[in-house]
Amino acid sequence: MRVELINTGSELMLGFTINTHLSYIARQLAGIGLRLDRQVTVADDREEMRVAIEEALARSDVLMITGGLGPTSDDFTRDVVAELLGRKLVRDEVVAAHIAARIRKRGIRLPESIYVQALVPVGAQVLPNRNGTAPGLALDHEGKLVLLLPGPPRELKPMFDEYVLPVLEKQFGAEARFDCRTFKVVGLAESVVEEKVAPSLADLKDIELGYSAKMGEVEVRVISHLKSTADEAEKRIRATLGDSIYGIGDDRLEEVVVKLLTAARKTIAVAESCTGGTIANRITNVSGASEVFINGCVTYSNESKVRLLGVRDETLKAHGAVSEEVAREMAEGIRTSSGTDFAVSATGIAGPTGGTPDKPVGLVYIGLATPKRTDVRRHILTFDRETFKFFVSQYALDAVRRELLKQ
Ligand code: ATP
Repeated sequence: MRVELINTGSELMLGFTINTHLSYIARQLAGIGLRLDRQVTVADDREEMRVAIEEALARSDVLMITGGLGPTSDDFTRDVVAELLGRKLVRDEVVAAHIAARIRKRGIRLPESIYVQALVPVGAQVLPNRNGTAPGLALDHEGKLVLLLPGPPRELKPMFDEYVLPVLEKQFGAEARFDCRTFKVVGLAESVVEEKVAPSLADLKDIELGYSAKMGEVEVRVISHLKSTADEAEKRIRATLGDSIYGIGDDRLEEVVVKLLTAARKTIAVAESCTGGTIANRITNVSGASEVFINGCVTYSNESKVRLLGVRDETLKAHGAVSEEVAREMAEGIRTSSGTDFAVSATGIAGPTGGTPDKPVGLVYIGLATPKRTDVRRHILTFDRETFKFFVSQYALDAVRRELLKQ
């Protein structure tokens, strides 16, 4: 059982538009246990399209083609497919009426060429388009399913969910089903994750392991056709990586932290220097953050660290703003003034300038003040400024998470 996707559009090949159909369709398919075997993008060029479709058709059981169903001179998909499959195009009066009704409703005048979208290859099933004029088309060709889907994402997505997914699930779901689980890991490098995980799964058959390094985290993906194998793999991965796994699937670290704080009925405040508000921003991106997040201070200058957080002048003079001592006083200062259970702080040198041999670019101290004690961790994170800020926020959030897990 082989599924292929052809995305058409010169704007995709010129880099003006990001191919969101690929990720959307692949994810939706994975949701019903189906996998995309190959994807090709072609420009709005009749010959390129013909070759791509012919090749894909020879290999696949399901072929999806997106885009090029519109009324303009660069929309060829319908024509090329009808020609390749040897089907005549005939006007579908239901589609024509739908197009006419949409035009009337909008009160606009459109050229007659719009009705080219009512042409349907003989024998094709029409997939209604509630957000546009071009319908989708489903064709059975010698036992293979060929699907033509519109280009605009707001038209494609509902059509895919409402018409395509149920058909695919019914026709192919059971035979091809696979179980895909993603574990999100923080605080370990990709190679370290592999070194730990791979040997523990070495004897499992029918298993595919994958690793993706993301900003400040690693995703471990395990795929199997058997639920029992996926369960066993999950058990071993969890045993190997333990608390370094912060979530699964689409979980985000900030969501997990807010959830843990909410469940523990604890509050938090943040004191940020080099992260410029990134930690507070991420926490407040989570719905329900107001239950746990009390306030944050971006104290970029030394003077503001003293005035707003109560960092002592002597500490700044003796150790400098980027130091363990200042990170400690920042966290303790905001925790006291905010009356929260926890407080995190971050002070560091984002670069590219400002480093010294003692305090190089990338040096950062992250403080975590709790009712019992204050811990400060030192890291060297050499990235561009935005990545640096994200990484620091990742370590800060993870410090809170690990503390909450201990409680
Ligand atoms: P139209 O009636 O608009 O001509 P169509 O079915 O012919 O529809 P296209 O002309 O190929 O589709 O694309 C329409 C819009 O959808 C464009 O703005 C295009 O950038 C966007 N689009 C097309 N394909 C993709 C894709 N793979 N990912 C994201 N956007 C896309």
